[in-house]
Amino acid sequence: MSCIRSKRNRTTEYRLRAHLVKSGIRNWTLTPHDVYGSPDFVFRKLQIAIFVDGCFWHVCPKCCNFPKTNAEYWHKKLSENRDRDLVATKRLRSMGWAVLRFWEHEVKDNPKLVLKKISRKLVIRGLVRRYAEE
Ligand SMILES: [Zn+2]
Repeated sequence: MSCIRSKRNRTTEYRLRAHLVKSGIRNWTLTPHDVYGSPDFVFRKLQIAIFVDGCFWHVCPKCCNFPKTNAEYWHKKLSENRDRDLVATKRLRSMGWAVLRFWEHEVKDNPKLVLKKISRKLVIRGLVRRYAEE
């Protein structure tokens, strides 16, 4: 299997963090535990939650197949992860959060696109907030 089985997904997290810093995007918090589902990054004021999903643990359709040994175990375990992701996304959205999820390989292969999506969300949410306050 080509995927790295690192559960905490630190490398990808650090990578995105470095990109955010370099691009001047500010006001985010790293893995706040008081936000449902513990997103990897959070823009509190604008209520934007960002998850960076490891390709193996979150079953990326592009990079990973279920392992063939212990197939049943892995299928169950990884399906649970995926279900948990869906629940977190839904729950956060129902609480008014915008949720962005990126795959590990997206951050690695195309960080520019990832940053663009984040910036776009920041702009849109910022505008919506401003109108609401006026
Ligand atoms: Zn992937």
